[in-house]
Amino acid sequence: AVDPLNLLALEVSALPGARVIPLASGLPDALFEHDGQLTKQEVRAVTLAALAPRRGELLWDIGLGSGSVAIEWLLRHPANRAIGLEPRPDRAARAARNALVLGVPGLQVVPGRAPAALAGLPVPDAVFLGGGAAGEGVLEAAWAALRPGGRLVANAVTIETEAALFAAHARWGGTLTRIGVERLDGVGRMHGFRPAMTVTQYAAVK
Ligand code: SAH
Repeated sequence: AVDPLNLLALEVSALPGARVIPLASGLPDALFEHDGQLTKQEVRAVTLAALAPRRGELLWDIGLGSGSVAIEWLLRHPANRAIGLEPRPDRAARAARNALVLGVPGLQVVPGRAPAALAGLPVPDAVFLGGGAAGEGVLEAAWAALRPGGRLVANAVTIETEAALFAAHARWGGTLTRIGVERLDGVGRMHGFRPAMTVTQYAAVK
């Protein structure tokens, strides 16, 4: 859990215990309050690179979870905008809290489910689908909504979602990449690298 009082001292790195937000994408996971539904640091850095935010652009983050991807999009430039969809009220509230604590209160949280809740939202420059939300109707709607030249990025950890991403690749082109991350962990009194679930990432420009 993140201590908001501690984060108020973000820029004051000389204070003992103060935290600093680095300028690069891929913030430490510990900076986000989460329930396990969090795009992990290394994958998040690759995801932001694929989303390729430019000044003033609008992101749709479908399946906000903890909000980390939308928050990092907003942190890239003060003029950036982000709308996040999240059907679970507890997660929607958590994402909004994370945005406040990390200094980007402009994150617009829509408490709904894609594709229905996408209707009427302003045209995005980029769309991110953070996992469970990448079902086929959702991919279709996201692609249709995207402006020409906009970017679609979708991450999958299940074979069902991966299959949907393979179908998207066949229709719209782009790239499919697998990202495997292993972190050092304890194994009894020794150590070993523990793999996280491999993430399959689809990225395409419309
Ligand atoms: N990128 C997020 C993690 C996403 S987890 C982060 O870094 O925190 C996927 C989220 O998608 C879950 O919170 C789940 O509630 C949400 N979700 C699942 N189906 C959805 C749908 N149809 N529309 C919107 N969100 C959905």
